[in-house]
Order: sequence, then structure tokens, then C-alpha cells
Amino acid sequence: MSDRRYILAGNWKMNKTPYEAQQFANMLADSLVGFTFFDIYIAPTFVALDRVREAISSSNIKLAAQNMYFEDSGAFTGEISPKMLKELNVSAVILGHSERRKIFGETDELINKKVKKALNDGFVPIFCVGETLEERQKGLTFAVVEKQVREGFYGLSKEEAQKVVIAYEPVWAIGTGVVATPQQAQEVHAFIRELLVKMYDDQTAQTIRILYGGSVTPENFFGLFIKKDIDGALVGGASLKESFVQLAKIMDKIITK
Ligand code: PEP
Repeated sequence: MSDRRYILAGNWKMNKTPYEAQQFANMLADSLVGFTFFDIYIAPTFVALDRVREAISSSNIKLAAQNMYFEDSGAFTGEISPKMLKELNVSAVILGHSERRKIFGETDELINKKVKKALNDGFVPIFCVGETLEERQKGLTFAVVEKQVREGFYGLSKEEAQKVVIAYEPVWAIGTGVVATPQQAQEVHAFIRELLVKMYDDQTAQTIRILYGGSVTPENFFGLFIKKDIDGALVGGASLKESFVQLAKIMDKIITK
């Protein structure tokens, strides 16, 4: 097991009304007391952030946002600024999620601007990369992931790079129930770490946390999480239910044993 501090992050996507989010966050705040050996983040929708912030205010759970724009204010209808998120005690931001890339057309260049802004404003960027099924079948996985990492990290210093959390989320595994095997995930995580050695140096590569995401459940989590280069998980569907607590219990058991 490495020295990296592990992460369990829940991406609630466009689920739960503010009231439902608050109720669920209250339950999590009670159930996750004492899990202090790793970082726990939950990312509700923007409109639920304030209520969830209140619900988890005296817990060990940290607040994350699912996206943000790279300007502080101005004529950007429908966008949310880092300054607004700061006021709500948001500490991490998911950036470049495959749904943002695919459905909303976010480019590597735009995502890079957001990563830079997040770092500049003191957020932990949870920066997502991953190949589609077609790309994997064509043998393009490494090439696709390399391009996304290089462009997402473009212009970042070593010190900045170390603060980024990468989430490897194969698009074919997101929300499909088809999880990557621990071997498939580890192979890409190791590739990313090697790439970071080339882009920066060994120490930087060893510092950066790389999460796996894509149909993680309590049933498959153990096998993934014990892999050398997998430093935790970004969880969608299983973060909306009691199973998120079970994932925390599994992570705690592995870390503290
Ligand atoms: C995600 O959207 O980040 C995700 C990993 O979703 P799921 O766990 O539902 O596959």
C-alpha cells in the first residue's frame, strides 16, 4: 500500500432534489463517522450544495461540485463560478467527466482551463479521463488517455500537478454495470503513472492520486482497490444509496488492516 491518501468520491449526477439530497447527506454524516483514514467527497447537484453543506458541516465528509466554469463572474448564462462554490465550502470539483465531454461537448482545452482555475482557487480538481468502447476495441486506449492527460495537465507546474486527482473512468463502464476488471484498470492506472513520470518526475507521479470509476459496487470494489496504482474510486450509481456506506467500510477495512 502506498503513502497516498485514498479517496472515496460520490458523483450524484442529476439525481436527488435538494430535500432528498439533504436527507441522504444527513444519513451519510451519521453513518460515516470515524472513517478518517481516507478522504470522502460527495458531489450533489449545484442546487443541493447549500443544504448538503449544512448536513455535513460537522462530519468528515467533504463537499465537491460536479463542474464549474473558469471565470469568476460575468455574462455566462447558466454557468457556476469558482467564487460561488468557495462560498459554499466546496473543496473539490469534478472536471472533464465523460458526460460533460460527450453530451455537452467539453474539449480538452476547455477542461484544461477549468483545471488551472480550480488549482488557482484552491480546489482539488478531480480530473476524469477514459476511452470509449470503440476506442478500446481499436486498441486506442493508451493513446486516448495519454492525450487527455497531457492536454488536461497542459501548463501545470510540478507542484500544481501533484494536487490534481485523476479519475480513470472507461466510458464503457460508466453506468453500464460492466466494470473494468482489476487487471484492466490497473494496467491503465500504471500507464498513467508512467506517463506522469515522463511528463514530470517519479516523485510527482507517485504523489498523484488516481481513482477508478465505472460501475463500482460493494461487490467488485475490493478487487479493484487492492491494486497497486488504484487510490480509490469515483462512484456514480452506488453513491446514491446505502451502498456508499458499504464502500466506505470496505475501504476502511483494507486501509486499517
Ligand atoms: C461516474 O459517473 O463517475 C460513474 C463512475 O458512474 P457509475 O459508478 O454509475 O458507473
